[in-house]
Amino acid sequence: MDYEEVQGAREYVARLDHGKDWRGQIEDFAESEGIDAAFFFGLGAVQDATLLFYDQDTQEYEPIEFDEPFEVAPAVGNISWLEDERFAHTHVALSREDGSTVAGHLDTATTFAGELWVREFDTTLEREHDEVTDLDLWGL
Ligand code: ZN
Repeated sequence: MDYEEVQGAREYVARLDHGKDWRGQIEDFAESEGIDAAFFFGLGAVQDATLLFYDQDTQEYEPIEFDEPFEVAPAVGNISWLEDERFAHTHVALSREDGSTVAGHLDTATTFAGELWVREFDTTLEREHDEVTDLDLWGL
């Protein structure tokens, strides 16, 4: 395990905009605030969602598309640099009217409503290609 000690920096609370992409809003916010490393928690609701499942055998992301409303219960993620852009790595548990859930790595989702807490760290996290997993992991 690789790690580094970090200090907390700025903290934010935010209300996501109706009709906009859940993850894209977080990335736009990180860009406008100049956030280079952070973790966040969020909750709310979305109108649809595309999750990406990483197949460990083929080392490819497989999309899973849902065209239905969900509660976001919750979203958790982090912000770091990926190929010269700020990337909000986001995982969600999404619940239906009957309480059943789907969960995973969030690609896109149209926000119905959302609330976010963000904790920035006083460092820069950057993703680098990892030969073993073929994923872009933190270069610590
Ligand atoms: Zn993921």
